[in-house]
Amino acid sequence: MKVLVLNCGSSSIKYQFYDTVQRVALAKGLVDRIGMLGAVLTHTRFDGDKISIVGEILDHAIGIEYVLAVLLSKNHGVIEDKSEIDAVGHRVVHGGETFTGSVLISPEVVKVLQDNVGLAPLHNPPNIKGIQAVTRVLPDVPQVGVFDTAFHSKMPPKAYLYGIPFELYKMHQIRRYGFHGTSHRYVGGIAAKKLGKPLNELKIVTAHLGNGCSMAAIDQGVSVDTTMGFTPLEGLLMGTRCGDIDTSVILHVMGKEGLQLSEANTLLNKHSGLIGISGESSDMREIISSMKEGHKRSRYAFEIFCYRITKYIGAYAAAMGGIDALVFTGGIGENSPDVREEVCRNLAFMGINLNNDKNLAGEEEISSDDSRVYVFRIPTNEELVIALDTEVIVSGKEVEI
Ligand code: ADP
Repeated sequence: MKVLVLNCGSSSIKYQFYDTVQRVALAKGLVDRIGMLGAVLTHTRFDGDKISIVGEILDHAIGIEYVLAVLLSKNHGVIEDKSEIDAVGHRVVHGGETFTGSVLISPEVVKVLQDNVGLAPLHNPPNIKGIQAVTRVLPDVPQVGVFDTAFHSKMPPKAYLYGIPFELYKMHQIRRYGFHGTSHRYVGGIAAKKLGKPLNELKIVTAHLGNGCSMAAIDQGVSVDTTMGFTPLEGLLMGTRCGDIDTSVILHVMGKEGLQLSEANTLLNKHSGLIGISGESSDMREIISSMKEGHKRSRYAFEIFCYRITKYIGAYAAAMGGIDALVFTGGIGENSPDVREEVCRNLAFMGINLNNDKNLAGEEEISSDDSRVYVFRIPTNEELVIALDTEVIVSGKEVEI
């Protein structure tokens, strides 16, 4: 099946055009600056052919039309006719409590997504725009929504409830949801394959470390806990987000600095994390090089970042009563031997030992021969999962991920 995978942001559309039989992206690209001056589409074909097109891309529907035009283009495209697009799969950030798995998009589903907008005011509206744009431009093509939250929807109440009045959960669905579910699910599944064991015999901790970072405790294939919560702010330290914090700090700072709610929100989401602590950068590569040049605040940022991951590995091993495998993924998890080394430094007591050469070389299995726990570095592939889920839902066939 050929599936167009879309990840629509407020002013962007990331896309990959997948052949699910060969499991390869035939083309991928980004429409950026939608609705602004200098909107641009950058498109790369599987053979490396690249093109940038500047255009007047006023909204998401026009953006989708540009994507179709380039997919169909004689010189840079990969299909000859629109009918070769069998389905469209959308990454949707928040499924709330309603969507516990991927779904075929219908007007009723869009209505529920709209009702859930309050849970993800920044992310769900552009996802809905993307769905509506495809409905206009490709009315006969089935669409599937794949939710970041869905994989975590089987967490037990003890993991998803906050210690606040229960009525707030009942009235406003205030609970922990978790995100990056597609990535955790994918790399957990790949780890099980590498171990040659069924998921239901394994306890796996996955660490997705990118600009946003989260971890999951996957017990017998089920995410039983995860670090992100009601929003993607909770848990690990991230590029610009603070992660776990005593909420009194926020109230105190709001009072001291006279901040409005929206300013406090920006402070915690955009000016905290690696950038807030280091004052240098939100990019782990720059943090590491500035730390190696002796910059003290960059060292703090690096150490806090790794320390929290270490703590959560211990917490999740305790939560599951053991750990068979630890998986690093995401831009930092996949590419930074320094982070992996620092995270695992103190974990020999629980049977986690890295092989330094394999870690430096970035091999897929990076644990030492005497490590009781397998440690993997597995590149994530959320688009592939979205394409395969879309195929499963549209074709009704079972497809192994
Ligand atoms: P996103 O969450 O936006 O998808 P990515 O998964 O691409 O982000 O991760 C981006 C992060 O990965 C950045 O902090 C970047 O510095 C980091 N990163 C990429 N390559 C390396 C590397 N070689 N060493 C350390 N960090 C890296």
